[in-house]
Amino acid sequence: MLELRPGCECCDRDLPPESGEARICSYECTFCGDCAEGALKGVCPNCGGNLVPRPIRPAKMLLKHPASTKRVMKDGGCLTRAS
Ligand SMILES: [Zn+2]
Ligand SMILES: [Zn+2]
Repeated sequence: MLELRPGCECCDRDLPPESGEARICSYECTFCGDCAEGALKGVCPNCGGNLVPRPIRPAKMLLKHPASTKRVMKDGGCLTRAS
């Protein structure tokens, strides 16, 4: 089950569970659309995997399985990847 992390690891923008802006990799590193498609070019800076749109959990399932509230921020920002 996805954690549904609450914000972008690069810019800390809020990404609520119903947001269509969230992008994740297979490890659920979480980024906003701007960072994912802009600075990161669709590649996760942590694991090198591809970033895909995060599925939206329906509100009624969020009552049962709430989204994570633990913020994850990448040390040094998202542009530390060699480029
Ligand atoms: Zn971002
Ligand atoms: Zn990753």
